[in-house]
Parts: sequence; C-alpha cells; structure tokens
Amino acid sequence: MSGILAGKRILVTGVLTEQSIAFQTAKVAQNEGAEVVLTGFGRLSLVERIARRLPKPAPVIELDVTNKEQLEGLGDKVREHVDGLEGVVHSIAFGPQGAFNFLEAEWEDVATAVEVSAYSLKSLTTACLPLMPRGGSVVGLTFDAQYAWPKYDWMGVAKAALESTSRYLARDLGARNVRCNLVSAGPVKSMAAKSIPGFEELADVWNNRAPIGWDLADPEPPGRGVVALLSDFFPKTTGEVVHVDGGVHMMGA
Ligand code: NAP
Repeated sequence: MSGILAGKRILVTGVLTEQSIAFQTAKVAQNEGAEVVLTGFGRLSLVERIARRLPKPAPVIELDVTNKEQLEGLGDKVREHVDGLEGVVHSIAFGPQGAFNFLEAEWEDVATAVEVSAYSLKSLTTACLPLMPRGGSVVGLTFDAQYAWPKYDWMGVAKAALESTSRYLARDLGARNVRCNLVSAGPVKSMAAKSIPGFEELADVWNNRAPIGWDLADPEPPGRGVVALLSDFFPKTTGEVVHVDGGVHMMGA
C-alpha cells in the first residue's frame, strides 16, 4: 500500500462520531496506508459502530485517559492488534459545564478540564512509549490558547496547559526520537463543540475572518494536518503548533 503513512501503525484516540476530528484523522491515515487502532471512552458500542464507517475495519480498545489501570494495560491491549506503534493521536478534551464560566468556576471543574484535556497528553504518551522503541510521532489537537476567546474560559486555560505539555514532552522525548506536535484547529461542530455553551458565538469569528474560508461542518482539514505531522514529512519538527484554521490566527483586528 502506498501513501505517506505506508507501513505505519497509528493509535487514534477520540473517535465518537463522523464529525470527530479523530474519525477524519483515522480515515485519512488509512487512505495514506496506515494500520489504525482506535481507543474509545465509555460508549464503546457507539465507537465500534462509527469505526465500521472507516475505509477499513479498525479494532477499538477501551481507554479512559484518567484511569491508571487502563493506561497501564494499554500496551498489552494494543499488542493484541499490532506489535508496535509509529504514531499516537491525542484527540481528547472535556470540560464540565462549570468550567465555561470563568469567574464562577470551582477548582474541581477546572481540575477535571486540565486533567482530561492537558495532563492526559503526558499520560497517553508515556503509556505508549514502550510501543515506540525506535521513536515515533505524537500529535494532539488544540484550540489556539494565545487568546481569551468568548465562552471558552477554563478550557482555554486547559489548552494553554496542553500546548505547554506538548513542548515539555518534545524536550524530554527528543532523545528517544519521539516528536510531539499539535494541530491548532478552527472550530468544528463535533460533540465536544456542541457541549460548549455559546459555541456559535465563538465560532462566528471564523465566518468573517478566515482569509481562505472555513467550514464548521468539515473536520477533515484538521485531520489531514494531523496525518501530515504523523508522516515522515516533518522529520525535524517537534514542540510545534501547526495552525489548521483557515488563517484566522494571523489576522489583525
Ligand atoms: P469529539 O468528537 O467530541 O471528541 C472528543 C473525544 O474526547 C470524545 O471521543 C470524548 O469521548 C473523548 N474523551 C472525553 N473524556 C475522555 C476521557 N476521560 N478519556 C478518553 N477520552 C475522552 O470532539 P472533537 O471536536 O473531535 O475533539 C477532539 C479534539 O480536538 C479535542 O482535543 C478538542 O478540544 C480539539 N479541538 C476541537 C475543536 C472543535 O471546534 N471541535 C477545535 C479545536 C480543537 P466522550 O464524548 O464519549 O466523552
């Protein structure tokens, strides 16, 4: 099989619906020659049903990224399907409703958002390290944490933590030939996005300011960006954030 991921085995977290950035990543990765293993959280039968819509069947492993036992057992579960990995995709975020009210939020809600959305990049990556003895590429998804967006509130703080976590992983894993990068995606109408109160207001910025346009209903562009970073075409790029946002990040007022 040819393609920019030919011969690569990739673990993809975060598939929930066809609108998931992770689903599009898995689809493009398979079309580019990768062997894909998925993880699902909670609603496994739903994830398995969605997985059947991929170009090729992909096994689904249960993983709650905050569950120590599941993280410890992840390597063995992955080895039931492939005997190593060249890439890992972190496409996971969650913030309780309370985290979307900046001044009123309680620490418990903030802590959950940071644990699930940022610390988990470290947990997932270290759980997968034994599967990548010759190195590999870890790619996560952020929403540009340079700015104080409408409504995003403590999820924005969690994304700032994710971006920093990615840089520290890049620093500490470079010697093992493991790269760690993020795609900073524009807004997409996924399940995670629908649970953000006021998502429409946040997303409206993209209707007016994306110089090459942006389609809120199309999660494929960020998925293609993730696949590019998984490939050998970014061999010396690590600790980087690549914007796949229609160009909004560089527009002035
Ligand atoms: P999505 O389809 O809802 O995917 C989010 C995934 O995270 C879901 O599969 C969710 O599972 C999973 N998850 C939540 N808690 C978890 C846990 N404890 N352990 C394991 N998995 C867990 O939404 P998405 O938009 O594609 O989001 C993927 C990534 O892209 C996230 O990091 C998100 O912040 C980022 N991103 C999204 C946008 C956007 O506008 N959509 C923009 C920029 C960046 P459950 O739903 O079953 O809990």
